Amino acid sequence: MNKKGYFADFGGAFLPEILVATFDELTAAYESAKADPAFWQEYENLMSSYSCRPTPLTLAENLTRHFGGARIYVKREDLNHTGAHKANNVMGQGLLVKRMGKKRVIAETGAGQHGVATATMAARFGFDCTIYMGEVDVERQRPNVFWMEQLGAEVVPVKDGTRILKDAINEAFRDWVSNMDNTHYVLGTACGPHPFPEMVAWFQSIIGREARAQVLEREGKLPRRIYACVGGGSNAMGIFGGFMDDPVELVGVEAGGRGLDTGAHASRLCSDDAAIGVAQGYKTYFLQNAEGQMQETHSIAAGLDYVGVSPILSHLREEGRARFTAATDREVVAAMRLTIRKEGLIPALESAHAFVQAFKDAPDMSPEDCLIINQSGRGDKDIFTVADAFEDPGWREFIIRKAEQYQT
Ligand SMILES: *Cc1c(COP(=O)(O)O)cnc(C)c1O
Repeated sequence: MNKKGYFADFGGAFLPEILVATFDELTAAYESAKADPAFWQEYENLMSSYSCRPTPLTLAENLTRHFGGARIYVKREDLNHTGAHKANNVMGQGLLVKRMGKKRVIAETGAGQHGVATATMAARFGFDCTIYMGEVDVERQRPNVFWMEQLGAEVVPVKDGTRILKDAINEAFRDWVSNMDNTHYVLGTACGPHPFPEMVAWFQSIIGREARAQVLEREGKLPRRIYACVGGGSNAMGIFGGFMDDPVELVGVEAGGRGLDTGAHASRLCSDDAAIGVAQGYKTYFLQNAEGQMQETHSIAAGLDYVGVSPILSHLREEGRARFTAATDREVVAAMRLTIRKEGLIPALESAHAFVQAFKDAPDMSPEDCLIINQSGRGDKDIFTVADAFEDPGWREFIIRKAEQYQT
């Protein structure tokens, strides 16, 4: 075990012996990149020419008026290429892979968003790319599989276990063990063994750095609160990172699913169903039963549907530096509908979790204060889920007609 990469009691790197040298190599490459100002400059240049950085900070005037309290700002990570903050992480790791001289990348993906982002990065840098995806997810996320393949990636359906995200992670590690010399594993969030949590949070910190400068310019003062949804924790760490040393409350919102008392949720930091454990190479809160078996998770937002959580967020929770709450599927759909109607913004279902809590808090805050919601991604990808949840009759007819076309 490697003693580096701890956040108090959380994190670490619990690795099979065979991967230790590869992680040492990655840690050294990351630390040298971090110490080199030219690397961050190259990263910012890439993100401004290939994605949409700096992303705007949008004042939601209609929502502010609707709730009658704090001024509500939205940080627009939805405007990144491929539609979410995931681009920040994969493009950063792409630059690092180039620096290490490797030619092949692999990744795990659940809903497929991280797979699409990684395949995009690989196409841009000319890397070979293999994406591991549980067979069940391959079946239910066909549009993302289609785009990954068009982008030149090989999508490997994983048939082991329950054939979902965690099985894809295991398979990706198995690949890495056999191909360490030329391959980098692009982990998708601020989880996993050191240096991934710290490194992914560093790339994502571009969100918070921009947001801090933007809000100071607009308001002449800091916001009272920052809201972000929490899946693995990378977009939350990204925006929190800009305000860590400021007197600003940091609020992380997890997937409350059908309710915290139903067992059908993915709340690790504010439910009684999680406990500290070691799995997938790191120590954090996991949703597990008394025997340490990982629980099934549920969320309307596929990107929040994960058993573990960033060790950095577990640490911020223990320290009391951040507050964690949960939003239910039902609350999320309502917040999304309101945001679409009032502002013409379409947050991803994941991001809508952060909106739920901000909407609960805003009316009790002073109009002199402002808050920022991180809109981690755009909701276009969620059309199948959202149109169902909104019970849209036109959409239903469209799907039935399409299905009939293929049957004849
Ligand atoms: C993947 C995803 C998330 C969850 O990941 P984090 O690592 O917790 O940020 C949140 N929002 C969107 C739009 C995503 O695609």
